[in-house]
Amino acid sequence: KTLCMIGSFHRNSDVDRLYVQRKKGGRGLKSIQIAYETKIISIRQHITQNVKQNKYIECARAHEEDKIVRVARELLQQAGIDDDENVSPRTISQRYLQKVLKTKFEKFESKILHGYVQRKVSADQNVDHSASKEWLTNKYTSSHFEAYACAIQEGEIGTKDLIYRRDRKNNVPVKHDNKCRLCKSQVEDITHVISSCPKMSSRYYLPMRHDIVAKFVYEKIRHEHDKEYNVRYDADEFITTGGDREYWWNVSVKTPANVRHNKPDLIMWNKATKSCHIIEFSCPNDMNVSKKVKEKEDHYGPLIRAMNIMYPDYKFVFVPIIVGALGTVPKELLMNIKLLGFSENESKQMIRFMQQKSIIGTVKITKTFLNFKI
Ligand SMILES: [Zn+2]
Repeated sequence: KTLCMIGSFHRNSDVDRLYVQRKKGGRGLKSIQIAYETKIISIRQHITQNVKQNKYIECARAHEEDKIVRVARELLQQAGIDDDENVSPRTISQRYLQKVLKTKFEKFESKILHGYVQRKVSADQNVDHSASKEWLTNKYTSSHFEAYACAIQEGEIGTKDLIYRRDRKNNVPVKHDNKCRLCKSQVEDITHVISSCPKMSSRYYLPMRHDIVAKFVYEKIRHEHDKEYNVRYDADEFITTGGDREYWWNVSVKTPANVRHNKPDLIMWNKATKSCHIIEFSCPNDMNVSKKVKEKEDHYGPLIRAMNIMYPDYKFVFVPIIVGALGTVPKELLMNIKLLGFSENESKQMIRFMQQKSIIGTVKITKTFLNFKI
């Protein structure tokens, strides 16, 4: 409740998740209850093992027979852990702790609504799971953003669809339908709000999330070659040069035959090495991250083939840079960033920043959306 008041925990967010370790996608709060229970178990183990050492411990053991000793036995039984009096106090209490945390995690993940995204993403073979949860361990994410992002992931945001379904479940008259308040054609659930409303796309998704991630990478590339370079965006589309390189930002490529997708986010020509990187950014819904990589490759295949014919002496590399709206990182991302000339460590650090920017964008997008009248 206190967490709720200071904004570090969303009103309807998941309580089990609070105590799940951060690297597993939880919020890593230390539970006082669990700490107390593990201590009881460890004390019980201690006095039982040392009962013959001196008479004070023997006294204590007798005194606690119906208290600590009994409670500890019951706790271990409940958790389904072998009550082994011969292992060290530390071992047995650690076993208990791991078991309780695991149960919390399973409880969170199995929840129909709260665990939905978590389950879908966990099942995806193309996702880098540890990198995807990096933002939860990132000390630069404020607890307020983190709380809100978790609530979005758990689907606990007051969208029309959620209100509609809750009303129906509780048998109260429904106040309105579940169609989106902006486009009025699709169901207004959380996925629709954060990534698929056509009315939000160019006005909000692009400037608040996509462009921020894209500009971050572009600036990194420019500074890699010229630390002093002052990056400017004078127009929506432009061409600039720096050393042996030429950068095309948002430029439509003219090809002899018509190509449908001819305007990638960034094209980077390197005259010295005769190479050309075609870079596309996207922050899709987290459950579609691996599909999106494929989709981008399919979209830009024809353009790359056409450019191959137009500039036969160049080598073309397509670099899709995809980060989920709530931070899911596809396995290819690290390799793709490295293709742009960054080292392993730099690339990892960039992924952390991009992830954070994407999540902050999503939180802002959701808040903006909810401010529109129903
Ligand atoms: Zn809509």
